[in-house]
Amino acid sequence: MILILTPDVDQQGAEYGQLIGFLDQLPNIQYRMHHEQGVQQRLTEVYLIGDTAALGLDYMKSLPCVERVVRVSEEYRVLGRHKDDTRPSDFEYNGVTFSQDNLNIFAGLCAVDTPEHVERMMQALQEHGQVCTRMGAYKPRTSPYSFQGHGKTCLPYVFELAGKYGIKVIAMEITHESHVAEIRAALHATGNPTGVMLQIGTRNTQNFELLKIVGRQQEFPVLIKRGFGITLDESINAAEYLASEGNRKVVFGLRGMKTNMGDPHRNFVDFAHVPVVKRLTRMPVCIDPSHSVGTRAVGPDGILDIMQVVAQGVIAGANMILIDFHPAPAKALVDGPQAMTLAELPHFLEDVALARETYLKRQALAQRYAQGAAS
Ligand code: PEP
Ligand code: MN
Repeated sequence: MILILTPDVDQQGAEYGQLIGFLDQLPNIQYRMHHEQGVQQRLTEVYLIGDTAALGLDYMKSLPCVERVVRVSEEYRVLGRHKDDTRPSDFEYNGVTFSQDNLNIFAGLCAVDTPEHVERMMQALQEHGQVCTRMGAYKPRTSPYSFQGHGKTCLPYVFELAGKYGIKVIAMEITHESHVAEIRAALHATGNPTGVMLQIGTRNTQNFELLKIVGRQQEFPVLIKRGFGITLDESINAAEYLASEGNRKVVFGLRGMKTNMGDPHRNFVDFAHVPVVKRLTRMPVCIDPSHSVGTRAVGPDGILDIMQVVAQGVIAGANMILIDFHPAPAKALVDGPQAMTLAELPHFLEDVALARETYLKRQALAQRYAQGAAS
């Protein structure tokens, strides 16, 4: 059960004290407070765990400071979408809104290689009105002999260039808790010119200790990728680890599943699950066409497979696109064969806009028919 308290509740006030006193004496029930500072107001929610079946909704709603009560099912308590649950699905970070109702594009380098490539990428993004990007500094690689990313040494120039070109959020994978501290320190040292969305890669989806550490901080939002060889339920539970520790600024990323059934694509594209994740949870859903398709293969109609699956995901309501671009793919140190070129950026953006427009029209159409059926 979740108690949603009145916004900006006074934690020193007598009524709050009464509520806590009541909760403290409930038998076989533990509770956890969750505070979140929004743009307009401070929200407080109380998570009750244990023997809550006997607690009446109306009675709990009558308690001091309680505005609403949601009875949650066992699954995905914080991030799940429960019956009569009107908690928001959106959050804001560094001026960018993440929501199940909008779309953000994160085109950028799979791996940072040189300052020149970072600059050319960011300049192109700015020229096309983009304020988000992806920049890999810590790369988990299959072979220990492959390039592992420049790590913290590249962070200062990546952040400074982001500031120069108006980039507000950079998706950056981390594989160890020390990376969070390095990112925080580099942002601080460069005067916080940009923001970072921490990315949990598919190889770390069930690295529970990493999830707990990333979940305990609320400074950076998190993009968690679906595990490539586990069930959807297991991956959503992994996201719930982040939220249960306190960080609910979480985006869920689909990036294809590991199976030879998807051949000749690198992974079996799972973007049919965009609406499924939106139905089960309140997380915005990201699609990663690059790591799904893995090649620049092109159809007889002249459309890259990567762009086809982007359109499939966006037309189904995806909220974020994480996609590899590179100014000189042949020189990329990681995943060059799947990178799109800067010359292809305007085409890509126009194609995405078409798919998004179609999604919005489809949504309006569904609403129109639902209203018609109701009358
Ligand atoms: C990536 O986005 O750079 C990446 C390694 O993705 P994934 O974790 O999905 O393989
Ligand atoms: Mn990659």
